[in-house]
Amino acid sequence: MPRPDEALGKRAGGKETPREVAGARARTRAIPSRVRERVLEKAGYQCQYQGPRGGFIGRASTRCTQKTGLEVDHLKAFAKRGPSDEGNLQVLCKAHNLFRAEIEFGGEFIREKIAKRRENPHDL
Ligand SMILES: [Zn+2]
Repeated sequence: MPRPDEALGKRAGGKETPREVAGARARTRAIPSRVRERVLEKAGYQCQYQGPRGGFIGRASTRCTQKTGLEVDHLKAFAKRGPSDEGNLQVLCKAHNLFRAEIEFGGEFIREKIAKRRENPHDL
């Protein structure tokens, strides 16, 4: 299977060069699959949420152990013009992504977003 960036190069027979594609997508929510994959790999395919140090007695680390349902999250929120590049991305499980979004935007805002997404699941 070709890597996503190679696949992109092969399509360059048309007018779309990879650079133009990247520019055109700069303000969409979609994270390029190769960036997403690198972020996941760096995180060891595990949620990167760290609880407060010493949060659980007898545990060396309070990092979340969730390895399923992972989402790549913007450290600086996308809605606040955070870029979709490796340095601004982290891996969170569904629960911690939601938890973090609630802190950042407030629960009411997030409930509205979730309701909207349920109506149009493909319109992110
Ligand atoms: Zn987690």
